[in-house]
Amino acid sequence: MTLIQLADRVRTEADAYRELERMRWHGTPVCPHCHSEDVGYMRPANGVSRRTRTGAMSERRVWQCRECRKQFSATTGTVMHGSKVSLRIWLLCFYEMCLSKNGVAAREIERKYGVCPRTAWHLMHRIREAMKGDLAELLEGVIVADETFIGGKEANKHADKRLDVGGGAGGKTAVFTLIDSHTGEARSRVVADVSGPTLAKAMAEQVRMNFSTLYTDEAQSYRKIGQKFLAHHTVNHSEDEYARYLPGQVVTTNKAENFFSQLKRSIDGTHHHVSREHLPRYLAEFDFRYSSRKISDEARMTKLVGQVGGKRLTYKLVTH
Ligand SMILES: [Zn+2]
Repeated sequence: MTLIQLADRVRTEADAYRELERMRWHGTPVCPHCHSEDVGYMRPANGVSRRTRTGAMSERRVWQCRECRKQFSATTGTVMHGSKVSLRIWLLCFYEMCLSKNGVAAREIERKYGVCPRTAWHLMHRIREAMKGDLAELLEGVIVADETFIGGKEANKHADKRLDVGGGAGGKTAVFTLIDSHTGEARSRVVADVSGPTLAKAMAEQVRMNFSTLYTDEAQSYRKIGQKFLAHHTVNHSEDEYARYLPGQVVTTNKAENFFSQLKRSIDGTHHHVSREHLPRYLAEFDFRYSSRKISDEARMTKLVGQVGGKRLTYKLVTH
């Protein structure tokens, strides 16, 4: 499916609701309040639109649960819930963010969809929120771990690259990434520093260490925590060693390095600068796209839409 094909499918708001219903429910609507499947569509009197509380006409498709009697639509309880932005724009933006390898610039969304900067910003961050996967499940297997630094002092940057969006002194933010070699899943997080105890804590929270093998570079920080793994193999970058051939396995951290170079390209090239405060959301976006890079764009979109439930932001987004 191309972007234009999706645009053709969602010519009206009602179409967009139908498309979202199809992607989220696969033909079986589920009540988001009590998870009952005993629900019925509430056909509006004119067949298409209904009057909202404010008196405006809306094509929102409303369902009612026969179990708990509550009403809902495909956006209830999702990051799109209660949004004033048209659902057509939401779906097209979801798709654009699934498609583009280096991320989409907020300015591009503003121009293309005729929304104000604040709206574009809000929309994109909510989509990034939906991209956060299920982190409760621990990683297990062959795990590549690596760390990098993102950003830099604003003052050191070339004038046309400088943006007044925070950053502050010091500027560089440490990012720690784990990649599951078999599934290709990536998990990144902002860390306070790259010391042994900090990285050990991050790994203990995400990896079943006694069932896993760890691949890292020679960094001292991994020595101690590496002992908690089934095995810990390293490559020595300072001696130009990028792969170590052991019986039945090739030890390398290439996957993490490729991940970081793509991440940096996107942050410098598309977003220009990302403040430390917002970096976790960009990381979620990158993790999502990287982890699903082997599936088709349409499957990625369906996967993402499947994740939107239960992710309604409860905190107020700080807008700039
Ligand atoms: Zn219900």
